Amino acid sequence: MKKTYLDYNATAPIRPEVLSLVTQIMGEVGNASSVHDYGRHAHKYVEDARQQVAKLCHVKTDQVIFTSGATESINTMLCGYRDKRVLISSIEHPAVLGAAPHADLIPVTPDGIVNMEAYKQILNDGEPPALVSVMLVNNETGVIQPVAEMAKLAHDCGALFHTDAVQGAGRIDISLDTLGVDFMSLSAHKMAGPQGVGAIIFKEGLDLPKFMLGGGQEKNCRAGTYNTAGIAGMGLAAKHAMTDIKHYKDLEKMRDYLESKIHKITNEAVIYGANAPRVGNTCNVGFPHISAQTQVMALDLDGIAISSGSACSSGSFKASHVLTAMGADKKQAKSALRISLGWATNSSDIEHFLESWSKIIKRNKQ
Ligand code: PLP
Repeated sequence: MKKTYLDYNATAPIRPEVLSLVTQIMGEVGNASSVHDYGRHAHKYVEDARQQVAKLCHVKTDQVIFTSGATESINTMLCGYRDKRVLISSIEHPAVLGAAPHADLIPVTPDGIVNMEAYKQILNDGEPPALVSVMLVNNETGVIQPVAEMAKLAHDCGALFHTDAVQGAGRIDISLDTLGVDFMSLSAHKMAGPQGVGAIIFKEGLDLPKFMLGGGQEKNCRAGTYNTAGIAGMGLAAKHAMTDIKHYKDLEKMRDYLESKIHKITNEAVIYGANAPRVGNTCNVGFPHISAQTQVMALDLDGIAISSGSACSSGSFKASHVLTAMGADKKQAKSALRISLGWATNSSDIEHFLESWSKIIKRNKQ
């Protein structure tokens, strides 16, 4: 049976070059903090990777701190602002929502973009915020948020700005200066690197909140023995992400073709975020008559891996907070599928999905 992977926003398959570097380093010995030759050798992998990640974000190497992933990067930032006023959008990843339960929520429009009028009002309502955290690209819809504009408004109020840029890396420009943000969180495995490694990128001169306490690694900002192999893998993945951005244009054509075919299969399909600026790899489609759970399982039986648009991390298919924030009712939100493409996707994968999905829709009509 043909196997088709269309779940890149959950995790991207690791690139073969990255896999071979990571496995090679895992076979070597050396703590990157040790002063002897083994340690210096490991340290070089870490510093080379720091350069590659810095290049992706157009920053200097000392503006990059490695972490165990974006969840840690985000928690480092938001837990550091627990006692202060924080604003986040209502469509953030659970890592942000969980780390900032006290935050004021900025609503989004039905297209899935932050509502700028509401944002301006909340910014100026009461005590000025210390931090605003809004994602660059939504993981469920692919909608690109107006981060540069929002960061400027936050700065005008004296607030700092953090962006979760996990789903933007390798898809759109994530230059720290162009975005005008102070802090940015990244994850390696969404850009075809290894799982369990990420980074915080920060503006020169700013202090990072301290979250992981212990040894003096990462200039006392993030304690813990270096995940040398993972960090090196992230570096190489960042290098590919930078050169591969052009490939995303081809993916966009494939995604647009997919959506045009979806509309031909049924005129009842709703594409969430279709009228907003989106990254080229993501399609979030709702077909209200069949639950996402049923569709995901039927597609899985045909060898196709996709996600439901709803949060299913605990095994229960709840209505997506992103889609309900966009105005979808619970039934609609529970029927949404997220199809996400990436570096190894080809047109036969799209045809495979369309063939299987049209069978599911036809069965429903009988
Ligand atoms: N932020 C977004 C937008 C994500 O999509 C994810 C992963 O699903 C995360 C944060 C968490 O990243 P990590 O898996 O590196 O902890």
